[in-house]
Amino acid sequence: MLYNKPAHVLHDMLKKKEISAAELLEDVLSRTDATEEKVGAYLTRTQEEARKQAEAADKKIASGCEIPFLAGIPGAIKDNICTNGVTTTCASKILEHFVPPYDATVMKKLNNESPVILGKTNLDEFAMGGSTENSAYHMTHNPWGLECVPGGSSGGSAAAVAAGSAIWALGSDTGGSIRQPASFCGVVGMKPTYGRVSRYGLVAYASSLDQIGPLTRDVTDCANILNVIAGHDEMDSTSSAAEVPDYTKSLVEDVKGLKIGVPKEYFTDGIDAEVSKAVRNAISKFEDMGAEVREISLPHTEYAISAYYIIAPAEAATNLERYDGVSYGERVDGIDVVELMTNTRTAKFGKEVKRRIMIGNYALSAGYYDAYYLKAMKVRTLIQKDYTDAFNQVDVIMTPAAPTPAYKIGSITNPLQMYLMDICTVPLNLAGLPGISVPCGFSSNRMPIGLQIIGKPLDEATLIRAAYTYEQSQDDKNILPEL
Ligand code: GLN
Repeated sequence: MLYNKPAHVLHDMLKKKEISAAELLEDVLSRTDATEEKVGAYLTRTQEEARKQAEAADKKIASGCEIPFLAGIPGAIKDNICTNGVTTTCASKILEHFVPPYDATVMKKLNNESPVILGKTNLDEFAMGGSTENSAYHMTHNPWGLECVPGGSSGGSAAAVAAGSAIWALGSDTGGSIRQPASFCGVVGMKPTYGRVSRYGLVAYASSLDQIGPLTRDVTDCANILNVIAGHDEMDSTSSAAEVPDYTKSLVEDVKGLKIGVPKEYFTDGIDAEVSKAVRNAISKFEDMGAEVREISLPHTEYAISAYYIIAPAEAATNLERYDGVSYGERVDGIDVVELMTNTRTAKFGKEVKRRIMIGNYALSAGYYDAYYLKAMKVRTLIQKDYTDAFNQVDVIMTPAAPTPAYKIGSITNPLQMYLMDICTVPLNLAGLPGISVPCGFSSNRMPIGLQIIGKPLDEATLIRAAYTYEQSQDDKNILPEL
């Protein structure tokens, strides 16, 4: 059984020639064949290409040269990241047959490592949602409880890593889409600082918030994959020019003197009691290990959802203008160009995407711009300031990654209720800060719970050190569900 091991363990086994990349791939493929019908993590599987990549990795290993971390290790890519020659649908009917003629920068960086790419994972259409129920194709089920959602929008990536149908995956996070599914599926997920990882080739949802990041079995894998994908890119003018440290240097057990802020706004009635308890237990563990814990306040937290659900739809409405059946996207004909565009967008966009386009255009329209968009941007500044003030006192902030564990598929039908579920994650995106979700226990019905650790801008290293120290203190690391 190889599919249940983290990438760093498999990397060592490959290096010592205890296993081959081909053998590892077949193990993961047969696990996927056995689980995929129940879980539905993938939109596209690329087995044949993967077999060629495994063969190439084996050749590299046989040649005796130093092998990169991901060489021969099978992973999966969220289907809103452009993959040269492989369909990239964003889980939307409008991009059903879109085959990018180029690779996203993260794919280029990954491909230098000679990894094995298993395919493209399911998501909420255009990454808009928190449950993967908004995919235009099929539902993804949480491997820990098949009647539950895997979270979203990177639900396919999180479910694949949890099910053993990928060793690692990439996701994207605009308002929580890496951290919340990681928390729902019991895996590690990191949203790096805005600009730490190039967005070139990530299909844009809300450009001032979007960021790509890893979903992995453990913190060691997270650090290693961040090493591969982080860094400046001339193709993304918002990518940071700051030097990328070697994140594996932060894989040390040491939180002595680490100042942890616990914001009181995150432990209110809206947060499930079992989640609060698990997160508080995790925080006391840090205290036992020598960290200093203090209560802090992030006073504008309650306005984060309102601001986010103006800013994100406003940017989305603009970004999605290009799918008109002429410049981009599937076409549904009409008697003239206006009818053609109307027919196309009516038929090919799903309900939630249309809702966001309408909210966004409304908020940006001449009469309402000041009242909505401008006001939301002012709130965004206040939220950023909350964090700046907090980080004058503490090194990291700890909160739940989501207000509840994974809930039943179909149980949230009101869009507003769904938006409110993002309360723990969206403030960071508005402030551009890095955050990681690490498993910190289970609910009474055995659904995973995630601890979110929030860091200063570009301080992913401290997040990794804190998360790693916590992970090492736990007995049951890297456990996969039975399925
Ligand atoms: N759930 C949030 C939304 O629907 C976040 C999605 C994301 O991070 N892509 O916008």
